[in-house]
Amino acid sequence: MGWRASGLALACIVAGVAGPAAAGEPAGPALIPRPVSVQQCDGAFALEASTGILHSPVAEPAARRLQAALAEVTGLSLPLGPLDSGAARAIRLELGGPGAGPEAYRLDVDPARITLEASDAAGLFYAGQTLVQLLSRAGEPGSWALPCVRVRDAPRFPWRGLMLDCSRTFQSLDYLRRTIDRMAFYKMNVLHLHLTDDQGWRLEIRSHPELTERGARFPDHWNEPSTHHGHYTQAQMRELIRYAADRSVTIVPEIEMPGHSLAALAVLPALSCSGGPFEIHPFFEGPHIHEDIYCAGNDETFRFLEDVLGEVIDLFPSELIHVGGDEAPKGRWETCPKCQARMRAEGLEDEEELQSWFIERLGPFVESRGKRIIGWDEILQGGLPAGAAVMSWRGIEGGIAAAQSGHDVVMSPTSHCYFDYTYERIDTRHAYAYEPVPEELDAAQGRHILGVQANFWSHINREPDEVDTQIFPRLLAIAERGWSPEGARSWEDFRRRVEAHLPRLRAMGIRYHEDAAVMPPGGGDSDLP
Ligand SMILES: [Zn+2]
Repeated sequence: MGWRASGLALACIVAGVAGPAAAGEPAGPALIPRPVSVQQCDGAFALEASTGILHSPVAEPAARRLQAALAEVTGLSLPLGPLDSGAARAIRLELGGPGAGPEAYRLDVDPARITLEASDAAGLFYAGQTLVQLLSRAGEPGSWALPCVRVRDAPRFPWRGLMLDCSRTFQSLDYLRRTIDRMAFYKMNVLHLHLTDDQGWRLEIRSHPELTERGARFPDHWNEPSTHHGHYTQAQMRELIRYAADRSVTIVPEIEMPGHSLAALAVLPALSCSGGPFEIHPFFEGPHIHEDIYCAGNDETFRFLEDVLGEVIDLFPSELIHVGGDEAPKGRWETCPKCQARMRAEGLEDEEELQSWFIERLGPFVESRGKRIIGWDEILQGGLPAGAAVMSWRGIEGGIAAAQSGHDVVMSPTSHCYFDYTYERIDTRHAYAYEPVPEELDAAQGRHILGVQANFWSHINREPDEVDTQIFPRLLAIAERGWSPEGARSWEDFRRRVEAHLPRLRAMGIRYHEDAAVMPPGGGDSDLP
């Protein structure tokens, strides 16, 4: 099977590929992210209850997911069948064609048949997501149609991420599943979960059950709502990982160190420099970033972290394991006899080098288990383990330095990608303007940019609806910057497509922000379901 051209002589026109549609040109279907190429053709495929979804044996999981996705939108449960069933009007899924690259796909909609082709399961899944975005109601109630198109598509970057902070405020499994669904609809593929911080330890660690028995809740006197604390058991997380994988999303776990670790130290104060005692508090009460961090001079700290990381590595299939590394105040290390003795013994100049030594000490353990470390850009200070990747958040300089020295990078600068910030600071248009590959990098260095990620910290906006409002609609900008070719960028074309997607966001139950950059003059439809 090849990427054969259709024999049908249909009039097709290239729609909205090279840039903004000029006056009089067709605007093209409202697909987000924008595909590499879309040709619009005459006619439409009418979706009916008898339309079969035909698949090869290896494409059965993708066929079942497409069946469910179409049922969710249309209420139709289309029958599945083998490719050679001979059914006339059908949707055909073919997997394993010649290499069109990871996650790439072809989607052809003709009046008589729809064909989805990809060389991997992710590509076939994304072909299905594009198909669902093309669905529209036809004249009769309950009838649906798909415009005839030829879509050729592949992602620009392999990492199209969203970070959710589950520590400052616990996020329910139900909310995480909904978030995965929404990410997948927009072809985002990495959900980074910030699982530990000063405000809570959210992942069961079987060798240290006390971490979640006592480190996952705020003391009663803070009167925090019950939904703000909690944790994920390993069984629950395994189920969530499977749910995400079924939608081509990888979950990247983050265990913070050496700072942002008060929830662990409140339970295990002997791992701090001062010995405690400590109490977990909400972010808005007391020091926002706690001075007490893991003691780098205590070997017990590393035995503990290896216990934790060992279980994390066993649980999460992700190749990259996030070890935090940001915003670690060094005051306690400066006065701790054990930390100072460690610096003398290891010949370290200052506490920044001690932080590098801290992360490097865990590198061989992580690598011996077949994984790689990723951390916030502070892990660059004083040297970085070979093979480690960097998440550039304080700006783009960390990402530039890391890529120039041969390390992989995920770009998530506060300037464009921090969605706990207000829309006055970062609106959808500003987020869309972000170019993940800095111009300072040459072509070889630029290939170390794995992609782009939006980050959401849950210290101010804490309820699910508030999180939605902070994330949507600007997450669509990051989805498109991560997927679509740089040459296809056009704000006005994107704005038009986002506007067309607002009813879809409402149908998905998303309480999005009415971003003035996106809404038509006079405001958008505020009648949320
Ligand atoms: Zn110490």
